[in-house]
Amino acid sequence: MDSLSQGYPIDLHTHSLRSDGAYEPRELVRMAAARGVRIQALSDHDTLLGVGEAIAEGDARGVRVIPATELNTESEWGDVHVLGYFVDPADAVLEERLKWLRENRGRRVELMVEKLNALGYTISLDRVLEIAHGGALGRPHLAQALFEKGYVKSYDEAFDTLIAKDSPAYVSRVGLTPLEAVELVRARGGVPSLAHPGTVLGLESLLPRLVAAGLVGIECYYGEHSPSATTKLLALANTHRLIPTGGSDFHGRSEHGTELGGVFVPPESIPALERFRRTS
Ligand SMILES: [Zn+2]
Ligand SMILES: [Zn+2]
Repeated sequence: MDSLSQGYPIDLHTHSLRSDGAYEPRELVRMAAARGVRIQALSDHDTLLGVGEAIAEGDARGVRVIPATELNTESEWGDVHVLGYFVDPADAVLEERLKWLRENRGRRVELMVEKLNALGYTISLDRVLEIAHGGALGRPHLAQALFEKGYVKSYDEAFDTLIAKDSPAYVSRVGLTPLEAVELVRARGGVPSLAHPGTVLGLESLLPRLVAAGLVGIECYYGEHSPSATTKLLALANTHRLIPTGGSDFHGRSEHGTELGGVFVPPESIPALERFRRTS
């Protein structure tokens, strides 16, 4: 594989400007197509707003775009993110829940800006909103604003210091629990997969509960997983009869995620996931 130009043909984890990615949905699909991606899930955090544009661009470029969203959750289990595949972008009930999550994100970022200001790091909410381009607000946008003002030497440094979980400026999110996220995706006819399981604390105890709640897949293939981590996750998937999924988590920002199509995904996972999809 020529890592500069060509990637793998399937990428089930990508982000656009509709959440915290750097590119418009159409641009993202064009870039994926140029790297040889033929099946791409657009999985923006808490939103399906980019899916329509991405599908239209995909139709023109020979890329099948799978509607998806990535739900962040709140729990003591570390970073538990749930990918919801094959959800319906026109589902008003789902959109209502996603909107609630986005509004909570917004309030949280506002509070963090206030705290940072009180600590002497003067960034403005307006600038943070500008960086987000109307997408689902998150810490990446704060990190960018802090970097621009020279308070940190890099975007990643902000995550490790000023806006880290144990920093005085940190505000925790109000949101879904991991089980609620899985249940929400299933209830709306979608197919949930556990994103980057490496960030989950106590994965082996949490997994059976997620499976009982309706989890279908697990992201065994991910840029930051070592070969031995992948092997271990594939064994876990097998034990719990979960479908192995994978993706780049491409954001187009700094070291967040790998290149589009940068991660192998088993082609047979697509029809396997699709069998769990429910249309009303
Ligand atoms: Zn994630
Ligand atoms: Zn992601």
